Amino acid sequence: MAAPEPPSQVRWDLYHKSEAILDFFKKTALKLPTRVRYENLPDPETDTSLPVVTVTDFASGEAGKEVVLLVAGEHARELITSEIVFWLGKLLSGKDDELADWAAVQTATALAWKRGWAKGTLKEWAEELLEKVVFKIIPIENIQGRKAVEGGDLCLRKTTAGVDLNRNWEYAWNKGEEGSDEYGGPKPFSEPETRIVKLIAETTRPQAFVNLHSGEYAVYVPWDSKKGLAPDLPADIGNVLEQLDAYCQCMHGAAGDVAGYLAFGSSMDYMYEKLHVKYPLTVEVYGPDGLGKTAMGGHPRKVLQAASNGTQQQQAFRVHAGMQAGMQGQPGMSSEAAAAAGAGDADGRLGRCLLDYNPMEKEEYEEVVATWLASLLVLAQHLAQHPAATSATAEAEQDQLPLPPTPPSKQELAATGRLGEEQPSDFSQMAAGSPGKKAKTSLPWLPTSYSLPMNAIQETVMEHTATDFTQKILVGGVLFCAVAAMYCLWARMGKPVPWSSSSSPSRRRSEMRAKGRGFRQ
Ligand SMILES: [Zn+2]
Repeated sequence: MAAPEPPSQVRWDLYHKSEAILDFFKKTALKLPTRVRYENLPDPETDTSLPVVTVTDFASGEAGKEVVLLVAGEHARELITSEIVFWLGKLLSGKDDELADWAAVQTATALAWKRGWAKGTLKEWAEELLEKVVFKIIPIENIQGRKAVEGGDLCLRKTTAGVDLNRNWEYAWNKGEEGSDEYGGPKPFSEPETRIVKLIAETTRPQAFVNLHSGEYAVYVPWDSKKGLAPDLPADIGNVLEQLDAYCQCMHGAAGDVAGYLAFGSSMDYMYEKLHVKYPLTVEVYGPDGLGKTAMGGHPRKVLQAASNGTQQQQAFRVHAGMQAGMQGQPGMSSEAAAAAGAGDADGRLGRCLLDYNPMEKEEYEEVVATWLASLLVLAQHLAQHPAATSATAEAEQDQLPLPPTPPSKQELAATGRLGEEQPSDFSQMAAGSPGKKAKTSLPWLPTSYSLPMNAIQETVMEHTATDFTQKILVGGVLFCAVAAMYCLWARMGKPVPWSSSSSPSRRRSEMRAKGRGFRQ
């Protein structure tokens, strides 16, 4: 039996054009300002800007809530990722009329009840979460790329400038070959899109980062750039993966181990290593023919081995696995070439790109969307139940120790015109040797030289003045001296220093940092 013809264009009865997605968020923000905010965040170096949507219950404020940063549409042809955040936007803003009718949403809801995660509808669940969680959503990171795909360039992965945005980050960066699908750009952060996402992460300090991709079903945590599980992931990361797997039922774990390829200069590794995001995740939301699903054999390489006898389905896997390898691991073979090898003529090649990254049947589209809507709520719920900010404060209060002084934020630096200056070494030592998670959240003074214009970021995020900054430094200095004096007193009395015997992950992280690990870039 001949395989069905690949589609020659996107199903616009299911999918939304970029304008429609952004319009939806823009209009919802106007109609529902108590729930949704829409901003165009400018790149400090060029005139590019990127829409970012903030969703929470603004009546209960933003401060002190857990922040989940979601990035969709990083790779142009992976259209489904932006569809997921579009529907998430509907759900979070209470517009679930259409969603409630989907069989897949009902199935996802039933599983949430079964696992004891929710009692009502997804909408009710989301409403409760918004009292404790802020969703920061970048609906389409690679806007020009997506527009090119919408115009028929169905195999485009990178930006229209030819750079892979998930290889452009300044951790384990590798330039790669300019023509390859994984070209990292002329230098780290050469692209406005990556600079803006970095700036958003620096200013919002998310507890979770979710980078949405497609091409297989998977949930990954660092490392991307090497083998093994990143050492400072929280102890409950396994629990988070297990919860997400309830919906995905797919391969999950350390990307470099599970994915079968290494990725250099990725945002996930950067978020973990440089910005100390507690839960840094890459999710692969859809694979053709269930690629990556545990029930389908999991990893493409295993499927490839099993395909030696070649049933039709296995043959399909062989093509997809080859594409994945071509796209991600072997610079010599582009995904386009791999796709062409699997499909023959030019039109077939384009159609295959659509099929390999995007569900094209209504039922599967709804299944994928429902699966990840529920998964993102599960993740948000985990954050709400394990608040990072509160636990750091509680830890310090329990030890009856004042929190250490906080180095000035990027906004404070910008306000005083000191942005870009070298980080004073006493601050880094203070932060590295300080107790609790405060060190983790206040450490990263990144050696970048943004000169922030008076723009939307400052208008909406910046609240501190130069006077505040000076006061903070003074108060901070006094507090630091008090902590240091206490430390000496305890040491002289021969008693263990209160936080020295702590075996908390934050303590281990601080020790590693003090030894120089984590700042080697
Ligand atoms: Zn991707």
